Amino acid sequence: MIVVMQKGATESQIVHVTETLKELGYTVHPDRGEHQTILGVVGDTRSLDARSMEVLDGVAEVLRVTEPYKMVSRSFKPSDTVIDIKGIQIGGPEVIVMAGPCSIENESQIHTIAAFVKKAGAKILRGGAFKPRTSPYSFQGLGVEGLKIMKDAADANGLVSISEIMDIAQIGQMEPYIDILQVGARNMQNFALLKELGKTRKPVVLKRGLSATIEELLMSAEYILSGGNAQVIFCERGIRTFETYTRNTMDISAIPVVKKRSHLPIIADPSHGIGLRDKVIPMARAAVAAGTDGLMIEVHNEPDKALSDGAQSLFPEQFTQLMSELRAIARAIGRTIE
Ligand code: PEP
Ligand code: MN
Repeated sequence: MIVVMQKGATESQIVHVTETLKELGYTVHPDRGEHQTILGVVGDTRSLDARSMEVLDGVAEVLRVTEPYKMVSRSFKPSDTVIDIKGIQIGGPEVIVMAGPCSIENESQIHTIAAFVKKAGAKILRGGAFKPRTSPYSFQGLGVEGLKIMKDAADANGLVSISEIMDIAQIGQMEPYIDILQVGARNMQNFALLKELGKTRKPVVLKRGLSATIEELLMSAEYILSGGNAQVIFCERGIRTFETYTRNTMDISAIPVVKKRSHLPIIADPSHGIGLRDKVIPMARAAVAAGTDGLMIEVHNEPDKALSDGAQSLFPEQFTQLMSELRAIARAIGRTIE
């Protein structure tokens, strides 16, 4: 349920309505817009008589949120959510680029890549330490050792870090080293993990499942928000379709659709989205044009020797070139890339 305050409602009226709701046992999330405040009400509001709220001073109207996702929906919070990670803002005018290898392989690899992605303008270093591989015989990642060396590389280059979490038991292992926890496509509906991430205070990038609808993606975020963690960033990373010429089908349309449905930011991962190096570039351009708040791009110093996803990893010079193209596209739509 949302309580829409009148334009020009006074602070004491807003406080009074908030306190009344709290006394009834609800949690209140205020969205203070420039002209109007909207109070998002969480709890079982079925028994709450909307009229008893509508008669309070300063209330314009009381509406039921009809979407199955509540806290995630834009009707619950009309203004964009901007997530601040050590001064880097995702969801604001700047399009934030995360880049790095698919997997952290060794110290010199991650330091080399961190240095050049930073130089090209990336703000966040990506790298997997716990890898969800289709085959148990494929490289599974360096685990906590990998997280440590990625933290060193990120710190040395003034970057923040993101890495994938696959299991509840990894939360404590990752927290000291990693700034953003990534829920991979294969875990988008790992509800036990989502519930635990609701209890953490780390930002979460939630990737769309291989065969998930946009509504299912939004519902998964609701698990995290309703658990108490409001810092969720969606990620479109391609879905499985009947197409075989690409690894996945990059659903660019999910970007404007999610932005309309939710106040939370969304980023795009064209690397997994299409899975072919030369086509990552046009998909990245398209994602920025479609309004993405950020990009996640796999880059490797020696893609042909990469232990995972080499075929979709950009060469350093391709990444640098792409960044300059993306700046021009961002500028054309009133956004920026540093
Ligand atoms: C990744 O980012 O390394 C990854 C495995 O992505 P996804 O979960 O989208 O497949
Ligand atoms: Mn990968």
